[in-house]
Amino acid sequence: MEQKETNRFAIKCFMEKMGELMNEVSPENKSEYERLNELMELAKSLSFEDASIHTYNLNYFFKYMDDRRQEGCLEEFTACRFDMKRFSVINHQFGRENGTKLLIRFIRGLQERLGEDGCVCRIQGDSFVALFKKTCLDFVMEYLGGAIVETKIRGKRRITLSAYAGYYEIVGKRTSEEIMDRISLALNMAKYTQKVPYVFFDEEILKAVDNEKWVESVFADAMAQEEFMVYYQPKVSLKNYRLTGAEALCRWKHDGEMILPFRFIPVLEQSHLICELDFYILEHVCQDISRWMKEGMPIVRVSVNLSRVHLGDVDLLQHVLDIVDKYKVPHEYIELELTETTTDVDFRELKHIVTGLRMQGFSVAVDDFGVGYSSLNLIREMPWKMLKIDKSFLPDGSEDEEEDVQKKVMLKHIIGMAQNLGLECIAEGVETVEQVTILKENNCYLAQGYLFDRPLPVEDFEKRLDGLV
Ligand code: C2E
Ligand code: MG
Ligand code: MG
Repeated sequence: MEQKETNRFAIKCFMEKMGELMNEVSPENKSEYERLNELMELAKSLSFEDASIHTYNLNYFFKYMDDRRQEGCLEEFTACRFDMKRFSVINHQFGRENGTKLLIRFIRGLQERLGEDGCVCRIQGDSFVALFKKTCLDFVMEYLGGAIVETKIRGKRRITLSAYAGYYEIVGKRTSEEIMDRISLALNMAKYTQKVPYVFFDEEILKAVDNEKWVESVFADAMAQEEFMVYYQPKVSLKNYRLTGAEALCRWKHDGEMILPFRFIPVLEQSHLICELDFYILEHVCQDISRWMKEGMPIVRVSVNLSRVHLGDVDLLQHVLDIVDKYKVPHEYIELELTETTTDVDFRELKHIVTGLRMQGFSVAVDDFGVGYSSLNLIREMPWKMLKIDKSFLPDGSEDEEEDVQKKVMLKHIIGMAQNLGLECIAEGVETVEQVTILKENNCYLAQGYLFDRPLPVEDFEKRLDGLV
């Protein structure tokens, strides 16, 4: 990168000098003038090229946009920013040099197909921008979604490469910087927030970004002021409809407004602040349980959500133990809910965490089972205690009868599998009596959902605990 900056600077100086020389040469000295002009053109083309992979660079992207603006046709174009997916893995697998060759083929393939209708320019590494006629959009989306690149590397012949992308279909008079900001925001949204292959820029993204900035800026204060609160959602037995446990869910009361997790959890997950919040919730749950114990109240197991962001934390187990033991809460009263993972590394780390927690006598639940890319190995190879079936598997009597039948079949098999593996099984998001009937027919006798209770403030939950005596 530094080298590239130096090159750019050198080219800029060179062009300035050439400009000065051309001013000094008298137009009568035609051959000298033409020679300087040629050199000037060469320098210009160099300043638009990414020397290492021989594609256009960011300077060219801005020039291309400026040219279209001057021609008055910029609104006929779509801008896109994209980052290659898993490119470090490809470099690792095939070596850097071969990785670069694959990248060149992929980018050339796109540029060739666009021809005169657009340009593809490298920002750095595996990060690119493109500007192309709106009529090319379908093709570009398909290409970036996955294109086959021919190769002879290590006996392989065809490799699929793909990218995360942020698109902006240009409307109105936008500056180049505005366009660049919009595609960058859309790409970030795709890659980090929504974890989907592509996102189109719209005004909602600007709102989301404002929300993100706001959450991050007030979080530390909100923690210090104890604005975050624990709500408890009861879990009930479907045999006698008695309370058997609860899930601790975070609520944020700010300036008199109650803010729900979807507005702040994803933001905190991006910045790893979620870890602080999870420990805060665990600590408050332990304080409540410790108080209930002192007051001689009946106690049920409470589950606390642990974000996936904790996966890299080698001290996680110790941290949990420090908090729980500080309040002398028996470990069997605490359950940790973790969601599924998708990568091998995560899988190993998750296994390590689940095993460690179980060895310390905590219960551990797989949360939202079925919504991600659940692997059966994930269930088989880790010592979970509880499987929480996501609400999307509960038939909801929707118009689509076939879908409901499919859900019933899957539900039956998931419950059967969990029981055969010796796992407890709970259904979350239970809203109707019909769903309860189906769960009971399939031998699932634990449920959590609005049919029984919404998440309750601690005082209301304590009344439910009192009802147990
Ligand atoms: P989750 O852990 O799967 O929690 C269950 C969510 O389903 C809760 O949403 C709950 O209010 C909602 N729910 C319960 N019963 C029903 C029902 O019958 N119908 C419907 N439609 N929804 C129901 P909530 O409280 O908004 O939390 C959303 C998610 O935010 C949670 O999903 C969890 O992933 C996350 N979350 C909440 N608190 C924390 C926390 O302290 N730490 C972390 N890391 N994540 C949290
Ligand atoms: Mg949960
Ligand atoms: Mg859940």
